[in-house]
Amino acid sequence: MISVKIWGTRGSLPVPGPHTVRYGGNTSCVSLQVEGEPLTILDAGTGIAALARSLGRVQNFKCNLLLGHLHWDHLIGLPFFFTADADDAHIQIYGPRGDQGLRRGIDTVMGPPGFPINSTELAGWWQFHDVTDDEFELGSLKVMSRQIRHRGPTLGFRIEHDGSTLAYISDHGPGAENRGPEADDLVPEGVVDLVRDADVLLHDAQHTPEQYERFRHFGHCTPGYAVKVAAAGNVKELLLFHHDPGRDDDAVGMMEELGRDAAKVEGFEGIVRAAMEGDTFNLGGGG
Ligand SMILES: [Zn+2]
Ligand SMILES: [Zn+2]
Repeated sequence: MISVKIWGTRGSLPVPGPHTVRYGGNTSCVSLQVEGEPLTILDAGTGIAALARSLGRVQNFKCNLLLGHLHWDHLIGLPFFFTADADDAHIQIYGPRGDQGLRRGIDTVMGPPGFPINSTELAGWWQFHDVTDDEFELGSLKVMSRQIRHRGPTLGFRIEHDGSTLAYISDHGPGAENRGPEADDLVPEGVVDLVRDADVLLHDAQHTPEQYERFRHFGHCTPGYAVKVAAAGNVKELLLFHHDPGRDDDAVGMMEELGRDAAKVEGFEGIVRAAMEGDTFNLGGGG
């Protein structure tokens, strides 16, 4: 059984406040717990600070952190993940190799003058693993990574355990890198590999169709495109993710409606809902 908890759902910028209490104001972070295995964490947005508060100090803490890419909203919480910033902690980080390797990539985002320390000054044992289109095992968890269309090197992940599957594609847009409208309906083969028969897919749904027309080169997508991806993989449940920071709870609810309308058009019969910060669910094990 995989126990999943969502700590941050927001794209681009944390927006805490009374207008975002339902879907959340923290940026991307999701944790996966399998009994007997170290914690697996997807992205280190500001949601990871709440995860640290819930864990507290843990003796000999071990975790695997999968980073889809190194944009601020997915990395900014890393130095505030105090459970891992301890002398006896062991952290394995997996993320896109990019031009300069994952570790140097992280240190260009997290380091002076933008931040007082770089990764070498974190306490504990940190190991950095460059990833592209790969398959690897984290104990009894099977991980698949595929490069996806966004701005700069970006990965989506598929995590399987004992017949249950979670797919995570936080930032994904067919119009990234100035691709034209001919890209808008296409679900690339690598993306289908990630989502095929997944129990749950967390997928970018940042833009309304109107925003997408203006900002397609930002590398995000609409609820309609997220539904296309879910349908292409015969996914059971689609959680719309990476909510626009300009959107309050009611507006995120409207994106959920857009997704459900698109599902009818697409003939997608799985569940469609907007991801909520604090949401917990189990995959497999009858849960
Ligand atoms: Zn993002
Ligand atoms: Zn991004």
